[in-house]
Amino acid sequence: MKQLDLTLSKVLDARENRALLRTNIANSGFKSLSLTLNIPGYPKSNQLLSNFFTDILAELLIFLQANRISTDSKKEILRTDEAGNFYLVPLLIQNSDILHIKHLTEVFEEKHKLSRLIDVDVFNLEGKPISSGKEKPCYYCGKYSAISCMRNKRHTYKEIRSKILEDITTFLKEKRKEKQINKICSLAQRALLYEISISNKPGLVCFEDPGVHTDMNFFTFLNSSSALLPFFKEFCELGYDFQGELDKVLPQIREIGLQAEKIMFISTEQINTHKGIIFLFGISLFSITKILSENRTFTDTEFQNIVKKVGKNLVKNELNHLKNPQTHGEKVFNKYGLQGAGIRHEIENGLPTIFQTAIPYFSENLHSEVYKDQTKLQRILLQGLLQIMTVNNDTNILYRSNLETLNHIKKTAKQAISDQNIYKKLYDFCKTNKISPGGSADLLAVSLLLHFIKELAAKKV
Ligand SMILES: [Zn+2]
Repeated sequence: MKQLDLTLSKVLDARENRALLRTNIANSGFKSLSLTLNIPGYPKSNQLLSNFFTDILAELLIFLQANRISTDSKKEILRTDEAGNFYLVPLLIQNSDILHIKHLTEVFEEKHKLSRLIDVDVFNLEGKPISSGKEKPCYYCGKYSAISCMRNKRHTYKEIRSKILEDITTFLKEKRKEKQINKICSLAQRALLYEISISNKPGLVCFEDPGVHTDMNFFTFLNSSSALLPFFKEFCELGYDFQGELDKVLPQIREIGLQAEKIMFISTEQINTHKGIIFLFGISLFSITKILSENRTFTDTEFQNIVKKVGKNLVKNELNHLKNPQTHGEKVFNKYGLQGAGIRHEIENGLPTIFQTAIPYFSENLHSEVYKDQTKLQRILLQGLLQIMTVNNDTNILYRSNLETLNHIKKTAKQAISDQNIYKKLYDFCKTNKISPGGSADLLAVSLLLHFIKELAAKKV
């Protein structure tokens, strides 16, 4: 009991101290605004509550700015004391505006999911709170006012506190998930836009030239890149929440992928721009968010392990023993065996082609300085593509030509990395023979996505 009295007196001291701070602001001729949390029992703050408070404060400051409410941020006070987390700032407003501001702060409180825990108060020139006369409902039951439940001791502090802490944990988790997924989706789209924006790619669609393609151009790719964004979000959400066996998830990834394909075809007027990307990004985004949702550090090995599990036995299950091959992929496998197993073989083995070529190359060469220099950036991105082409058994090439041509392309790409004249020859060869290394371009986009994710992880955003 003595301990409790001591705690209570410390809380009261802290509150008195806060009143003094408000009086000081009032005495210097300003009204003020404060943010506190409404937490029953002790302690009034801990790491979780501080994280929650920081999150609300950031939102409140944006809300004030959006509503053109000026504050003197140089004189703001942000502290944690025995009474909990506390923010106080002088208001730079006209006298008549104070009730309007009180009303706005109530709007702010009410639109928050955990509004009953948030207290935004406005103080007049006597340092006294402006009241709207509204009573807050009880956090625990929501049936009576908070004051009524407190006076009638309807619930214990313990039960109210455990509900509050549980709700805050859930709230912050959800918010973190949404933030991470938004960020990852924007990086996925950035990877697609970078790939299509590379100039002078051999045989592939560029801004200046559609390469060997007669049915699409740069803008066809912009159409489908934009149309795919909502599906990137769905792949991420699946990965974030997935709890089952990884080797059983592929049909679920495919289901989203097939919906994405449908929208892609609508956006491009029936041209296939990103079918391969949808499959690759589906599995990659699933794997990335699976790692991040479990708070694990993103590494190449972690990523590859998940991709391998998702794609376990993919070639055996989907390509072997096919009596009547239908799709491009099936037909190429039927003719060339494992060398023509394409993207399924890549996935089954954890995307080895990019991890021995573009990924290490980008780690070494693609960094913040390069992003500012378009000429350098173009060169490095094109080099990344060439690196992939030196080893990739591109089924796009095999389908349209033969093994001899593929081997010639691989060999020439290797020489072209350091020789501008040979690059020109490779470029012309693709054009003359109508060869488009689309499979390598898809793998380049995945390499870029993974590179951006690693940059993000390094920033700890
Ligand atoms: Zn109640």
